[in-house]
Amino acid sequence: MTYALDHPEIREAVAKLCADFPGAYWRRCDREQAYPTDFVTALTDAGYLAALIPEEYGGLGLPISAGCAILEEIHRAGGNAAACHAQMYTMGTLLRHGSPEQKAQYLPGIAAGALRLQAFGVTEPTSGTDTTALRTTARREGAQWIVNGQKIWTSRAEHSDLMLLLARTTPRETTAKKTDGLSVFLVDMRDVRGHSLTIRPIRAMMNHAATELFFDDMPVPAANLIGEEGKGFRYILSGMNAERILIAAECIGDAKWFIAKASAYAGERRVFDRPIGQNQGVQFPIARAYSQMRAAELMLHEAIRLYEAGGNPGEEANLAKLLAADASWAAAEACLQTHGGFGFAEEYDVERKYREARLYQVAPISTNLILSYIAEHVLGMPRSY
Ligand SMILES: Cc1cc2nc3c(=O)[nH]c(=O)nc-3n(C[C@H](O)[C@H](O)[C@H](O)COP(=O)(O)OP(=O)(O)OC[C@H]3O[C@@H](n4cnc5c(N)ncnc54)[C@H](O)[C@@H]3O)c2cc1C
Repeated sequence: MTYALDHPEIREAVAKLCADFPGAYWRRCDREQAYPTDFVTALTDAGYLAALIPEEYGGLGLPISAGCAILEEIHRAGGNAAACHAQMYTMGTLLRHGSPEQKAQYLPGIAAGALRLQAFGVTEPTSGTDTTALRTTARREGAQWIVNGQKIWTSRAEHSDLMLLLARTTPRETTAKKTDGLSVFLVDMRDVRGHSLTIRPIRAMMNHAATELFFDDMPVPAANLIGEEGKGFRYILSGMNAERILIAAECIGDAKWFIAKASAYAGERRVFDRPIGQNQGVQFPIARAYSQMRAAELMLHEAIRLYEAGGNPGEEANLAKLLAADASWAAAEACLQTHGGFGFAEEYDVERKYREARLYQVAPISTNLILSYIAEHVLGMPRSY
């Protein structure tokens, strides 16, 4: 049955676009840890990365369900939207809290594909999950801010023109709440890269264009502060539900890819003179993963429904991300096991997708932190940190 928010035309068109980027393409990028530039360009040219940008700025002006449909289809086709998804989930911060001047200056370029907003600098080596303990500072000097510090795991910084950056503008000791005194900046990295901004790639388990960044008296024009000084943590948090929803859609796409791949292989592979899929020991993990995926998908639809009705569904967005990441991981396990030794061979794509799917237990939010949110904010248990 087609769900009202499913966007079948978009799904069909994205699936068609993805058919030009088969497993061999992603395998090569993975092997070389290369950025999938051709894929991102095709997606941009088709307008999909501007899906959430309002029409007045040259975007498609579509709701988050359309963003979910696009990301899910990319993953369902065996690709990886991690190369470009940040443009969707950082967009909310700019749309909701950016000034009219900032939107007019940057959004048309992003929508047209001339500018990339793909980098999101929050995580730091020493603070980790405890975001308010971050140490990167920005101090005001006349018409600009001067940024010093370091970020880690900033994905796609080498392939992005712009970065949303969270930095401390008032020392933590002098603010009433530790969440105060953080500010968000829209950094135009083209101006500072190679000078006051150093970008170093990090080789990781999967091809994610991960980097670490070093800021050495990096100037940012005062006009590039997003919203009010000191309120940045709230702005980032308010975008988190959109991020959880969009990432959950990717996980659902992964789960569907693994389940389809495993079911097909289970039907084809003959051992002991019969298809391995005839054995319930092979069937059941795939059937269980499918059940988990369907339940997670329902929760995702609920989160989308509430979000598009104007709500800020923290509970549902977090549950959708948790359940979808678990479903994709269960499906990854079932798929690898179904393929036996061949699951480990590069040419089947299973081991690559397996590595990629593992990330969602840790980033962009780790499972523990979601459980902690549910325990505290939904179930009313004591705060643990
Ligand atoms: C490939 C990749 C890409 C990434 N891209 C970006 C990006 O673009 N931008 C960005 O800002 N960040 C990015 N990240 C960072 C990511 O968001 C963090 O890795 C993640 O939030 C966890 O932080 P940490 O690695 O510092 O772990 P830590 O905070 O050191 O935590 C380590 C472990 O301890 C657990 N833990 C910590 N505190 C608690 C607690 N109180 N209760 C229970 N468990 C706890 C965590 O859940 C985790 O499992 C990326 C990470 C990876 C690996």
